[in-house]
Amino acid sequence: MQVIHSVDEMHRISGDLRLEGSTIGLVPTMGSLHQGHLSLVDLVKDRADRIIVSIFVNPTQFAPGEDLEKYPRNLEHDLNLCSDRKVDIVFVPEIRNIYLEGHSTSVIEETFSSEFCGLSRPSHFQGVTTVCAKLFNICCPNIVVLGQKDAQQVIVLKQMIKDLNFPIEVITGEICREDDGLAMSSRNAYLTREQRKDALFLFQALQEGKNLLENGIFEIEKIESEILKYINKGKLINLEYLKIVNRETLKPEKIAVRNQSLILLAARVGNVRLIDNQVL
Ligand code: AMP
Repeated sequence: MQVIHSVDEMHRISGDLRLEGSTIGLVPTMGSLHQGHLSLVDLVKDRADRIIVSIFVNPTQFAPGEDLEKYPRNLEHDLNLCSDRKVDIVFVPEIRNIYLEGHSTSVIEETFSSEFCGLSRPSHFQGVTTVCAKLFNICCPNIVVLGQKDAQQVIVLKQMIKDLNFPIEVITGEICREDDGLAMSSRNAYLTREQRKDALFLFQALQEGKNLLENGIFEIEKIESEILKYINKGKLINLEYLKIVNRETLKPEKIAVRNQSLILLAARVGNVRLIDNQVL
């Protein structure tokens, strides 16, 4: 496994790979890898000749006062996991080489970025689209694997890929959960034992939404209000948003449709911001 820190070297290697006809699969991450990230690697294994995992805690997607400084970082652990998983290249660029001094260009997706997570984190998706455009240019992937855990991010990035004519196919991986259902996240490490207990109500609330649909309840208003009851059981939960939307357009719906409606939520449990979602 190669570990590449230099942007120029990564660019040269990916260019050479493409010239020789190799298919490149890219899994962009911010590191502190867990099973969720690795499941994305597994998804592209049969499709790509070479797998690149990028590890970059991207400062531009954090607002001042967010957890950029304390975001968990553990490169040695990440490299071991990637090596066990037979990743070919881990790309770990330095901030100063991704954002050159005096940089003044960014990528803004305007339709999907302003809602939900974009409301509480107004510059977040601009940071995500900008860094991903850079990673795509540097790593030249044919295929990019994204996690459904960040459902809005998938939609924003697919739109960017389409709008900017990146010749890239997107594969989306299911949400990996802990045994008790909590969605895996690098940020789970911040949770105290009490907070983690309450965080579980978020998952149970999503399950309840699914159960209601299975039991023939289709009115979104009714489903949302029942889900809220579950979330309110978590005394440490501060709900940011809970909405049932169309999974492709993110538009609110009135009647739930199987495989089309998506429950989206974000909440703070103590100081820890968690997101989760469930296709109905
Ligand atoms: P991050 O390191 O949080 O930026 O995530 C990198 C990629 O891993 C994104 O495409 C995420 O959606 C995906 N990811 C994060 N958590 C999970 C999870 N629990 N299951 C599957 N994919 C995930």
